Amino acid sequence: MNMVITIKRVSMLCIIAMYLLGTPVYAEQVHRVAAGETLSGIASSYGITTDSLLGNNQYVVNPDLIHPGLVLIIPDSSRQYYVVRPGDTLSEISQRFEVSVPILANLNDIENVDLLYVGQILLIRFQPLEREELAVVENTLSPIANRFPDTFFFRGEPDGLRVALTFDDGPDSVETNAVLDVLQRYGVPATFFLLGSNIPGNADVVERLVAEGHTVANHSTTHPDLRTLTEEQLRNELLTLENAVYDITGLRTALMRPTYGFINDDVLRQVGDLGYRAIQWSVDTKDWRDIDIDQVLINTMPNLRDGSIILMHDHPSVTIEVLPEIIHSLKSQGYTFVTVDELLGVNAYKQ
Ligand SMILES: [Zn+2]
Repeated sequence: MNMVITIKRVSMLCIIAMYLLGTPVYAEQVHRVAAGETLSGIASSYGITTDSLLGNNQYVVNPDLIHPGLVLIIPDSSRQYYVVRPGDTLSEISQRFEVSVPILANLNDIENVDLLYVGQILLIRFQPLEREELAVVENTLSPIANRFPDTFFFRGEPDGLRVALTFDDGPDSVETNAVLDVLQRYGVPATFFLLGSNIPGNADVVERLVAEGHTVANHSTTHPDLRTLTEEQLRNELLTLENAVYDITGLRTALMRPTYGFINDDVLRQVGDLGYRAIQWSVDTKDWRDIDIDQVLINTMPNLRDGSIILMHDHPSVTIEVLPEIIHSLKSQGYTFVTVDELLGVNAYKQ
């Protein structure tokens, strides 16, 4: 029964910590799998169930392939307690809270399930806090994809564990080359949405992108909010970049990414008329905002699914540091990295 004391002590520590920090104690955190670790062992070391650990890391589709270096995001959870009353039994408590007796016994370190005492504090469950981000993306973008089925895409269909890395705002002789070095090391292709204003002086980077099997795509020329442009301005934004890439590679881009992800029906109609497909994303690493590697992993891993289109950028240094962990974790689970055009089964370039 010493676990009860432990729980009380933890609760007291929580209260003290919350008082001192003024914030909830629990937050998502990164766990990197070490040799010999198991999912259930990792879960129990954080006091959570294997199910809630897997629920927060749904990209882990092969729980038997938990290799060292795999990144797991430990869910943010709250704890639900129950204080035992006269006449309570564990099986009755189990039914009331819909938690099995073995789980209750395990959570509370109970050896004899018939032995409860009045006033005993039982930990009923860890409740992982809802992650709503992916659902919001899906609910917001699915209707647009349904209205523009040939023009607008934000993810691929789940099909054989494929994901697409995308990098915005290049090319840059230092940053893009650094990203390319990482991708080359892992043999991973990606899609680069280039800015026309960054092309001058970086023709060799554009050539390297194509030579190494990446897809070159259009992110406009000066990075304006496309919704604010006249038709002529929007056309110029796309065609100036398209022509610059054509002069270097002989290829005419057919995929574009809306700047800031800002779109409306007018923009999408014009983009389609110009022979383009607009490619949004389903996973935002927020590498443009967060400089902490673990925070970028927390932004990324729980949202990954079969068919994900992952948004990254060429410029932040955190990108180069976090890429190997994302690639390793997904590859070790059996995922393949493909270009966006391959993921969607569309042409990367105008024919
Ligand atoms: Zn951008």
